[in-house]
Amino acid sequence: MANSLLTDASRRLDRALQYVSISEDTAERLKSPKASLKVSIPVRMDDGSLRVFEGYRVHFDDTRGPTKGGIRFHPQVNLDEVQSLAFWMTFKCAALNLPFGGAKGGVTLNPKELSKAELERLSRGYIDAIANFIGPDTDIPAPDVYTNPMIMGWMMDQYSIIRQQRSPAVITGKPVALGGSLGRSTATGTGAFYVLEAMMAHLLGQPSDQANKPAQTVAVQGFGNAGSVVARLLFDAGYAVVAVSDSHGGIYTPQGLDIPSIQQFKADTRAVQAVYCDGTVCSLVDHKVITNEELLQLEVDILIPAALENQITAANADAIRARYIFEVANGPISADADDILDAKGITVFPDILVNAGGVTVSYFEWVQNRSGLYWTLEEVNQRLKQQMVTAAETIWQIAQTHQTSMRTAAYVQALTSLGAAMDARGTRADYVGEKG
Ligand code: NAD
Repeated sequence: MANSLLTDASRRLDRALQYVSISEDTAERLKSPKASLKVSIPVRMDDGSLRVFEGYRVHFDDTRGPTKGGIRFHPQVNLDEVQSLAFWMTFKCAALNLPFGGAKGGVTLNPKELSKAELERLSRGYIDAIANFIGPDTDIPAPDVYTNPMIMGWMMDQYSIIRQQRSPAVITGKPVALGGSLGRSTATGTGAFYVLEAMMAHLLGQPSDQANKPAQTVAVQGFGNAGSVVARLLFDAGYAVVAVSDSHGGIYTPQGLDIPSIQQFKADTRAVQAVYCDGTVCSLVDHKVITNEELLQLEVDILIPAALENQITAANADAIRARYIFEVANGPISADADDILDAKGITVFPDILVNAGGVTVSYFEWVQNRSGLYWTLEEVNQRLKQQMVTAAETIWQIAQTHQTSMRTAAYVQALTSLGAAMDARGTRADYVGEKG
């Protein structure tokens, strides 16, 4: 029988445990979620019929603070997936030293099949069902795959109606008009860029050392919210972004693509095309059409998977030719591909570090909601940079000290932080005589 996603996710934990002195009890405790809620959500459809949807909310661990994690609306949502995503959130928040535990939620459906009014009734119904399981001091949801600021706004409103008080801090990723933070929508790509720049300085030397060297080449799989932002920042910083893709396939040109033109064209047409735009007039430039599989196998300096999980597995890891991989997507490399990439000398920078900019600015949003004082975009990005670079440098040092991968080092950092919090909380079980 295939391993559950959660079992697969916790394999990364096992590797890190040999470098951390935490008790066996703590390590064992961290392999199972603290609480899992399964709910039924009845929704009146536009045609008058009633449909009942299945939803979940999982608290994985709350030792370091209220739990934090997104809500996914997707046909494949199931309890195992939500539990493993909650596991990742626990370690991401701990690795970044954010004062949160980890959680995740989801509803099993294809949101594209619902009208806007049905989607709003479903979103409010989900909050009705989980209202006693979330709260600004207990568990704070956010957007994830196929949920967005509009849905977060409805959910915040429904929670406020139930509690009979305006409660913006119960959910993050809201529209700015309802207390959302400036910089949240670009936070994941921007955070990934800060990590990449800090790490490339270690790998290649400071920018001044690189002045006379050719630009580093980059391929980005997935030109969505996260991927397009990191591609643009890299283009602006002088990297040669030679390939990008979406679910329909990719475009490649060895001299580098004009990313601002591609962004502009995509905003107008939804399509990713190799174009150069002069004002509002965009024309096609010389390029090669490639598949997503070919994009992953390009000989580039930096590969950025920013689309889906399990894109690089034991089946194709041997064909990867990039020197460095920065995981912007969650779980784009399966656990069994780690060793193959390692043996090929490819350095992987893990998702729980690289894509943590989103949850970091969600944390800033929660802080701003609770204080009532709102920050400028410059303040948000300055704090984001500090948080991301500090975490990246700490994890880099751990990797050097133990001569281990950046992924294992990130889990070492997270486990150290979690273990210290668990120890500091005392051993209630010992006091009450529950432990043998
Ligand atoms: P998005 O929906 O905005 O973009 C996803 C992109 O991937 C789209 O361009 C889509 O066309 C493309 N895509 C879909 N299937 C593909 C395929 N088979 N091959 C290539 N491209 C494909 O989503 P996003 O918010 O940018 O999220 C992308 C990844 O980043 C996800 O794994 C997500 O969990 C992760 N992530 C996002 C955030 C965030 O704040 N947006 C935070 C942390 C992690």
